[in-house]
Amino acid sequence: MVNKVKVRCRYCEKDAVVRIPYAKLNLCSDHFNEFIVSKVRRSIERYKMINPKDKVLLAVSGGKDSITLTHIMYKILRELDFKLIVLHIDLGIGEYSKKSREIVENLCKSLSIDYIVFDLKNDLSLTLPEFIQKLKTRRICSLCGIIKRYIMNAVALELNVDSVATAHHADDVLTYIIKDFILQDYEAMRKLVPISIGVPGIVAKKIKPMYEVYEYEAAMYVVRNKLEFIDIECPFKKVKSLEDSVRKFIEDLEKRSPGIKISFLRKFAKMYIGREVEGFRKCRVCGLASSGDICSFCRLTEKSFGKPLGSKVREVIREKIGKAVV
Ligand code: AMP
Ligand code: ZN
Ligand code: ZN
Repeated sequence: MVNKVKVRCRYCEKDAVVRIPYAKLNLCSDHFNEFIVSKVRRSIERYKMINPKDKVLLAVSGGKDSITLTHIMYKILRELDFKLIVLHIDLGIGEYSKKSREIVENLCKSLSIDYIVFDLKNDLSLTLPEFIQKLKTRRICSLCGIIKRYIMNAVALELNVDSVATAHHADDVLTYIIKDFILQDYEAMRKLVPISIGVPGIVAKKIKPMYEVYEYEAAMYVVRNKLEFIDIECPFKKVKSLEDSVRKFIEDLEKRSPGIKISFLRKFAKMYIGREVEGFRKCRVCGLASSGDICSFCRLTEKSFGKPLGSKVREVIREKIGKAVV
């Protein structure tokens, strides 16, 4: 039998349960929590994401990353003096969406966080699977992304919040940066900043408080805090070979030079913050942000349902907000 050598936490007498290689730290459960929470708090301060008295709309899917962020934001909201509202988008993907929604609603109720659910089926009479069927597209994740981003932005504008937060972490962001660079999609690449200022009435300010949190840290956080999250994959998720290779590449790089992801992301942020809204236009149909004459959401809905639904989404949201708990 092998006797495991116990390693003590750097800050207390307890056994360490986690090793953070880039910080050369062995931590117990409590100090790991403290470490991650203060990492998020420091990113919020470093990139000036939130000001006192701000209203922040947090987009929560029910996955490990956004559940982690909800828990952390809840812990720091008094200290940083902001108000938190959660948005969940129910995409109508059978059991997967039902379970995700339940998880988000339960967490919000247990922490008494105000939340709003945008339900594609009830609110727009169409679900993501119906959308896919009508469009006969194979680019499902990018279609889903367009719908989610449109709804997040529209809700943020109608609620008049100061920013909308997503749970993208360092591994996501760095993977997308390198992928966009390889594909020479520089317009998409420069949007991968921790904070984008927005344009009043057209596009909300966006923040990524987990910009410097690694994926394994979020995974550990949900487990260590026994938080419920959706652990089944979206049934439409496909293996993306380029993205997968990039993820493996950065993992390997990080192993050889612990901390390289964070230092790269900090330099990237310095270079691109403030440049992400260059070339923004207003959609001719719904009036929200667009890179062309008509925004992707209006274009897609016109193609699949015969009429652009941007303005309808905004109407539904206005009605919802009237009745909402926020
Ligand atoms: P994804 O596009 O799935 O990589 O998600 C990026 C971010 O968008 C997540 O970190 C969440 O903050 C948010 N998000 C994704 N799916 C949803 C959803 N169904 N409802 C609300 N927010 C979501
Ligand atoms: Zn400790
Ligand atoms: Zn539009």
